[in-house]
Amino acid sequence: METTERHFYRRLNRYRRWVQVLSLSLFAAIPVLNGYGIHTLIGTLYSLSIGDLDIADPVMVLQTVLLSRQIYVPLLLAVWVPVVIAWLFGRVFCSWVCPQNTLSEWIDAVQQRLFARRWKQVHHFKYGKNPHAAWYWLIFGLLILLTAVLGVPLLAYLSAPGIITSSLSQAILQHHVGVEILLVLGVLVVEAAIFRRFWCKYGCPVGAGLALFQGRRSLRVHFNSDLCDCKPGTAPCYAECPLHLAPKETATLYPYCFNCGLCVTFCEKAGRALTFGFSAADPMGNAPRDIDSKPFQLIQVSRHK
Ligand code: SF4
Ligand code: SF4
Repeated sequence: METTERHFYRRLNRYRRWVQVLSLSLFAAIPVLNGYGIHTLIGTLYSLSIGDLDIADPVMVLQTVLLSRQIYVPLLLAVWVPVVIAWLFGRVFCSWVCPQNTLSEWIDAVQQRLFARRWKQVHHFKYGKNPHAAWYWLIFGLLILLTAVLGVPLLAYLSAPGIITSSLSQAILQHHVGVEILLVLGVLVVEAAIFRRFWCKYGCPVGAGLALFQGRRSLRVHFNSDLCDCKPGTAPCYAECPLHLAPKETATLYPYCFNCGLCVTFCEKAGRALTFGFSAADPMGNAPRDIDSKPFQLIQVSRHK
């Protein structure tokens, strides 16, 4: 009989798609409700109020501190919900809620259907390596530095989830959208034509801000090579990953992986070698490399060389 775990892994992607659609619908419903004078829910994915509970994107709070050079305690407290979720489950906000990822997945699905042959050629089963975590933190660090030096809200200009939800609200309440939506459209066009999913993989400050709070015991992909029955040198799970990561290389998977679970669901039809778990090391003893975990660890390592 199918265990609860197997049942969950098989349907994981279906649950995720439902949450994506529901969260997008929620952010369309908020301005409609506000228009009718119901203000229990107010806001966007920059910041949201549910009754008396204020929730803010940690990166937006960081930007406010950098630009105002002041620490406002209620604002700091507003990050606890996303921080706790990221600490427990990693960047699941990205794969389950963020509308930029939802749109990108829909475009991927259309491309895969319309250009099936080319899709297979480009997203073949050849195995690859995960990029070094330093690139991820370097880009995030540069964005923070530019925000502080230029004194402009660059992180807000680059927050795709904030832009999409605030544009949706503007479109519904004021019947127009601002030019910032061009960033989202530009990213989608470049991703569709040239570099699939580059934004979530390398460029987005919101995802990087959440990745900062992932710990060694946060939810992560585990790999058991004893169960892997794919041909040596091949990895269909690699082709399955929207970020073109190598799920079997678990020690170097983070901070890039956003725990969407597509590789885990795929592997259910193969050897069931990929699963999710909360322990620092997977069954093969692949613990996350310290150097890959956090930017400050990168700095510590380079100092001691
Ligand atoms: S990385 Fe940014 S744009 Fe991509 S899913 Fe996460 S928050 Fe959204
Ligand atoms: S490695 Fe797996 S869980 Fe991580 S982003 Fe890729 S498909 Fe999703």
